[in-house]
Amino acid sequence: MVSVLQVKELRASIEGKEILKGLNLTIRQGELHAIMGPNGSGKSTLANVIMGHPKYKITSGDIILDGKSILNETTDQRAKQGLFMAFQHPMEVSGVPLSNFLRTAYKAAKNQTEEKDKQKELSSVSEFRKTLKEKMEMLKVDESFGRRYLNEGLSGGEKKKSEILQALILQPKFAILDETDSGTDIDAMKIISQGINNIYEQSKSGILIITHYNRILHNVKPQFVHILVNGKIVKTSDYTLADQVETTGYNEFLEGAVKNA
Ligand code: ADP
Ligand code: MG
Repeated sequence: MVSVLQVKELRASIEGKEILKGLNLTIRQGELHAIMGPNGSGKSTLANVIMGHPKYKITSGDIILDGKSILNETTDQRAKQGLFMAFQHPMEVSGVPLSNFLRTAYKAAKNQTEEKDKQKELSSVSEFRKTLKEKMEMLKVDESFGRRYLNEGLSGGEKKKSEILQALILQPKFAILDETDSGTDIDAMKIISQGINNIYEQSKSGILIITHYNRILHNVKPQFVHILVNGKIVKTSDYTLADQVETTGYNEFLEGAVKNA
């Protein structure tokens, strides 16, 4: 069955300030979407509320996964149901090596927490190692990457690769990638794009790429491009919309948003 993630007429605020103002979005597994929009339009807010970040207040509307509201579920429960988010600003977690973190997350995602069978456990460990090595090679990161503490001391590009690596291991139903292209050089951006295409091909995930620029969209071709302005999606089209934004900027959409406000 193809999973469906729906955001319906969603209004959300932070510290009493309304950021999302009746946002609608539907993503099916296997679809590639991009959301573009000016700074402060609410892109990260959308990603955060889909994952259930507690600092945002949902005032009306709904987020529905396969017909069921997930608004009352914790971030952890949402992750277990196959939602994944790569942060715009990944956190550094000292003392937790990346490979341990990934192994734990991988087991949790596959519900393998109670592995009593030694044989099974061993084969799953070696399977995990093999997958991790493969993915790390694809992302062109050093083998020592796995032993480093989660994101600690990594460059901007490496942090973003670390997030993509997580998605490749977890194989989520839906992956929300918040500005995975920002703060990376052009080579890292190309590798990250390849990683995103790989998530898409191997997991048949529904992918939502949040981005400020269209350069990543030359390498990862979304079927749908949405323009988010002032807490609402004001236009949806195919990926030619991303090129249009590159030439005209967001002004045309800003004016429209003001008129409709
Ligand atoms: P985008 O990702 O599109 O740049 P954000 O979702 O990060 O936008 O932010 C949307 C708006 O919410 C901005 O105006 C920002 O200032 C505001 N905002 C974000 N976090 C907070 C916060 N902790 N307190 C108050 N306002 C916030
Ligand atoms: Mg943002």
